Amino acid sequence: MNLKPQDYGVRTPYAGDLESVPLDLVKVSGQQYTEHGELETLDEQYVPSHIFEAYVRMNDAFMAEHPIRKLLVQSCYRSPAYQIVVFINWLINGYRGDIARTIRHVSPPNYSQHTIASKAAIDFKNIDGRPSDDNPDDFKTSVEYAWLRQHGSEFSFYESWPEGNEVGMRAEPWHWQYRP
Ligand SMILES: [Zn+2]
Repeated sequence: MNLKPQDYGVRTPYAGDLESVPLDLVKVSGQQYTEHGELETLDEQYVPSHIFEAYVRMNDAFMAEHPIRKLLVQSCYRSPAYQIVVFINWLINGYRGDIARTIRHVSPPNYSQHTIASKAAIDFKNIDGRPSDDNPDDFKTSVEYAWLRQHGSEFSFYESWPEGNEVGMRAEPWHWQYRP
């Protein structure tokens, strides 16, 4: 809980004081996409209801222009406890106990925009499976990314880490924070 990215040479900005786990989380399930010709289904995701409402309005507007496409929720709210589980999993199974390397990949709860419920970020995916695991940057050339750049702010979604951002975070074109 008390790890600070700056102690390990990472400039991840403080995401906010922790909030209690919302009681109105909306479970999003059955989201499908196609990758390498195979139909895949995303794991269940949880979205605070006020953010879910904004997301639905935004996705409706997107689909009005692109009827056969969809903005899928790859990840949204993660409780502080769950974020710690994710961190420890990467620490043990991905980075052999090396905190400095882990913290470049996963943020502690206070530094993750996915754990602060009132302004949780959504990681989007499209129906073609972008961003893909092997080449996440492929989201940058998607129809969805171009549309989000143009219209995301109309629905209070903002790209947190654009290319060349001032805090030196790796670009994450799929990661959009809800900022009412
Ligand atoms: Zn994210």
